[in-house]
Amino acid sequence: MGEHAIAPGCLERLELPVARLPTGTQLSLPVAVAHGVEPGPVVWVSSAIHGDELNGLAVIRSVLQQLDPRALRGTVIAVSVVNVFGIISASRYLPDRRDLNRSFPGSPRGPLAAQLAHLFIEQVARRSNVGIDLHTGSDGRTNLPQIRCDLEDPETRRLARAFGAPVILHASLRDGSLRAAGRALGVPVLLYEGGEAHRFDRAAIEVGARGVLRVFASLGMLEESPPELQLEPVEAYKSTWIRARQAGFCDLQVELGQRIHAGQAVANIFDASGKREYKVKSKLEGIVIGRLQQALVHRGDALVNVAQLDDADLTRSF
Ligand SMILES: [Zn+2]
Repeated sequence: MGEHAIAPGCLERLELPVARLPTGTQLSLPVAVAHGVEPGPVVWVSSAIHGDELNGLAVIRSVLQQLDPRALRGTVIAVSVVNVFGIISASRYLPDRRDLNRSFPGSPRGPLAAQLAHLFIEQVARRSNVGIDLHTGSDGRTNLPQIRCDLEDPETRRLARAFGAPVILHASLRDGSLRAAGRALGVPVLLYEGGEAHRFDRAAIEVGARGVLRVFASLGMLEESPPELQLEPVEAYKSTWIRARQAGFCDLQVELGQRIHAGQAVANIFDASGKREYKVKSKLEGIVIGRLQQALVHRGDALVNVAQLDDADLTRSF
């Protein structure tokens, strides 16, 4: 890592310099490298590419506490804060409002986001065989623990199933995303979503940490496998947000993981006078994988994200 060699069986924490703040303070990427005693795959685990999404930090902390490099095959590269600028201002973005996850693979002389993306690609992604990128919901929304990935790639799908989050959502690649940059390097990338920005969500952290360890086990990196899955994940190829048709105060009536059917009321929206009130009904069948956390809504605001599943999966509860 950089010019630094890490002995087998050791965990080391390094700092890769990124840039200085206007105050002169040096900002660096915090990188933990667990180097196993036997050769094996190199897997990166990253979080806080969006600087306000914090569950991934706790996932990485939990994974590193449970990982013994003396019983590891291969190498784990953990970067708990990728957006080192966003994290200090509790912001999703870089100081110039650029989205780091639209800035990959980056360049050494572009905007700050591009330079940070470039550093990550050169120092972390290029050395890895598999990547796991940890996120949460954004903009006052919370997400059911879920993997988003390319289900059409067999190895990616195998790893996504091994992760064991309740839902796997097929997601096409977006330009500038870390997943797309991983694909260009031939590296399968799983994107984990769970919980909401700014907050820790214990359940999402637990599912995330177990999932990361299960992926390590499925790659033959661990001596002992984590506990077996109690429930096979369901796969969805499409998700749709149900939106507000008018502004008001929203009383959502569905929870994450809940199965909903066509015609079901998912929210009541009423205005400040109390004179106008209407029910928002679903036209979809599926599982709630994301929901708004805030009460105030404007016309067109996203309320409930529904993963559309096969009929067989609709009978399951989560
Ligand atoms: Zn994110």
